[in-house]
Amino acid sequence: MENVVIIGTGCAGLTAAIYTARSNLTPLVLSGTMPGGLLTTTSIVENFPGFPDGIDGFELMQRLQQQAEKFGAVVRFATVEKVELQQRPIRLQVDGEWVETRTLIIATGAGHRHLGVPGEHELEKKGVTYCATCDGALPVFRNQPLVVVGGGDSACEEATFLTRFASQVYLVHRRDSLRASKIMAERVLNNPKITPVWNTVVSEVLDVALGKVTGVRLRNVVTQEESVLPCAGLFVAAGHVPNTQLFTGQLALDAAGYLLPTHGAATEVPGVFVAGDCSDAIYRQAITAAGMGCAAAIEAERYLAGLCG
Ligand SMILES: Cc1cc2nc3c(=O)[nH]c(=O)nc-3n(C[C@H](O)[C@H](O)[C@H](O)COP(=O)(O)OP(=O)(O)OC[C@H]3O[C@@H](n4cnc5c(N)ncnc54)[C@H](O)[C@@H]3O)c2cc1C
Repeated sequence: MENVVIIGTGCAGLTAAIYTARSNLTPLVLSGTMPGGLLTTTSIVENFPGFPDGIDGFELMQRLQQQAEKFGAVVRFATVEKVELQQRPIRLQVDGEWVETRTLIIATGAGHRHLGVPGEHELEKKGVTYCATCDGALPVFRNQPLVVVGGGDSACEEATFLTRFASQVYLVHRRDSLRASKIMAERVLNNPKITPVWNTVVSEVLDVALGKVTGVRLRNVVTQEESVLPCAGLFVAAGHVPNTQLFTGQLALDAAGYLLPTHGAATEVPGVFVAGDCSDAIYRQAITAAGMGCAAAIEAERYLAGLCG
């Protein structure tokens, strides 16, 4: 039986692995289909402390894994298909086989909601992005018109943030008013560098043939009129989808599907802890995920010490 199983090898899971491995708990770390997590999909990470010249996302995650393995973590390329959290020991079905463990750290992350329009997938990382904080400062977006899609707090925050770099920010929203909190909405509407485009959806991202974003095709949902808005970047802020379907009915989730710890990283099920973007609807950054992984690991260690003591 395992002492600790960690689901996920993003910043949260691998940080939890470093801590629990250093405590001689030999954690089993399951990578799922995205070893290294979301950060491996970005080229340069400029805001992770300790790297003044930035670091390639893939390389950073490789280093985290090496650090965890150096202390005895066992990282397996395997996916958890089913969990039985009420059982003692906790049981997980991993690629068809059952694994038993005393504690579980869930660090399954969250994906971005996509628009699902032509050109979006093809131009991802070539001007289409899902994180202004991560990518907004890249040279390709500086002094260029940029488009943000969405109408909630995230979209407003992203649009406001991008005004530091863009020549103009267009906020495309399917309704005629923002869903965001009053203060965020006012900040956006009073910003001369942000132009709202109401009652409108993006129907295509241009230009796949050129291999970069040159504009977006828009459709007014009231008049059905189509137009093209030239831009160098499309920032999709249409929300996130936490990877938590496995835990439905066994752990508390909020309306959007984020795991809800009861105190710190602990859940209502003894021995089950959560970390990273799967339980963080607010910050969703590498360093916050890593911090939550550390917290979950320390709590798992204390829980195990309590079992033995
Ligand atoms: C393009 C892009 C650029 C970014 N740039 C930055 C940046 O510059 N700075 C920054 O701070 N943040 C950045 N972020 C955000 C950052 O990547 C996330 O906040 C961070 O990766 C969250 O870490 P996590 O460990 O919670 O989850 P994730 O990194 O999403 O990892 C989740 C892990 O869980 C695994 N998993 C899921 N389900 C299962 C399962 N059933 N069984 C086994 N494993 C499973 C996945 O395979 C993966 O390994 C960026 C995000 C994107 C998309």
